[in-house]
Amino acid sequence: MSKPVLAIAGGIGGAKLVLGLSRVLEQGDLVVVGNTGDDFNHLGFAISPDLDTLLYTLSGLADPVRGWGRRRETWKFMAALEALGGPTWFRLGDADLAMHAERTRRLAAGESLSAVTEALRQKLGVATRLLPMSDDPVRTRLRTSTEWLDFQDYFVRLRCEPEVREIAYAGAGAARAMPQVLDLLRGDELRAVVICPSNPFLSIEPILAIPEMRAAIAACRAPVVAVSPIIAGQAVKGPTAKMMRELGVEASAAAVARRYADLLDAFVVDEADAGAILPEGVARIIGRTLMLTLGDRKRLARIVLAAADSCSAGARAAERKP
Ligand code: GDP
Repeated sequence: MSKPVLAIAGGIGGAKLVLGLSRVLEQGDLVVVGNTGDDFNHLGFAISPDLDTLLYTLSGLADPVRGWGRRRETWKFMAALEALGGPTWFRLGDADLAMHAERTRRLAAGESLSAVTEALRQKLGVATRLLPMSDDPVRTRLRTSTEWLDFQDYFVRLRCEPEVREIAYAGAGAARAMPQVLDLLRGDELRAVVICPSNPFLSIEPILAIPEMRAAIAACRAPVVAVSPIIAGQAVKGPTAKMMRELGVEASAAAVARRYADLLDAFVVDEADAGAILPEGVARIIGRTLMLTLGDRKRLARIVLAAADSCSAGARAAERKP
C-alpha cells in the first residue's frame, strides 16, 4: 500500500469518480466517506441510498442505465406491494431489498452503521474501504414555501419539483465523525482529500455539516481537491443547478468552488468552464469532467491525483497548511 486517498462522496456523481479512483490507485489505498443525510426508514427498512450506490458501483452490481439500484433487478415485491395497496413511490427492487433487510437486521441487533457497511462491503468483495460520515443519524430536510420536507419526500416522491428555500441537516451539529477518518485527516500519511462531483447541498454539505469533519478537512496537511458537479452552468444529472438558482446561488462551477473555498487547494473545472474565476488561493485545473465511460472516470481520477500531487509539491500548500 502507498499513501491513502480520502474521497468525500454522495451517490451517482460521487460514485463515478470513486470508481475511477479505485481503478487507478493501488488496491486498498482509497477510503471513501459516504453521505448518510439521505438515509431513511421506509416500510420498516433502514435505507442508505448513497452508501448502496457506492457499494453497488464498486462491486459492479450497479445498474448502469438507471444510475441507482442493481443491474438485472426484478420487481416482484413492488408489484405485489402495489396489489395490496402499499406505497410504491420509493422503488425497491427484489435484490436491493435484501440489502435493506440485512442492514435493518444488523442495526436492530445493535451493530453500528459503519460495522454493517463494513460487513456488506466485505460480502460484496469491495476492496475500497467505505465509511458512513457518522454512526449518528443526520437527516437532510428541505423547506419549501409552505413546509419542511424529509429528503426522500422531496427527492423521490415529489421528484425535486418544489422550490427549495432552505436546507437543514438535522442532527449534524451533535454527530461525531468516524474516528478512522479523523485519524487519517490528522495524520501525515494522507496523499489527498478528494471532494467528488456530487450535489453540494444534498451530498457534500451534509458531510461537512458535522463540525469535526469540516474542521479536520480544513486543518489537514494533505491537499484538498474538488471536482465541479456543474458543467457550463448545468448539472449532469439531478437538481443541483435548479437548487442553486432557487437558493439564490449562481449555477456555475465557480459558485461551487466558493462554497468550499476555505477547504480547497485545487478545483477541477470542465473545459467548458476554462474561464471560471476561482477564489484566491484555489488552483484552477481544467479537464474533461464528463464521465460517460470507465475510461473517463479513470482519466478524471488521474487529473485529480496529479492536481493534488502538484499542490503538495508546491510552496503554497506549505504556506497555507504549515
Ligand atoms: P446523488 O446523491 O445520487 O444525487 O448523487 P451525487 O450528489 O453524488 O451526484 C449528483 C451530482 O453529480 C450532480 O450535481 C451531477 O451534475 C453530478 N454528476 C453526475 N455525473 C457527472 C459527471 O460525469 N461529471 C461531473 N463533473 N459531474 C457529474
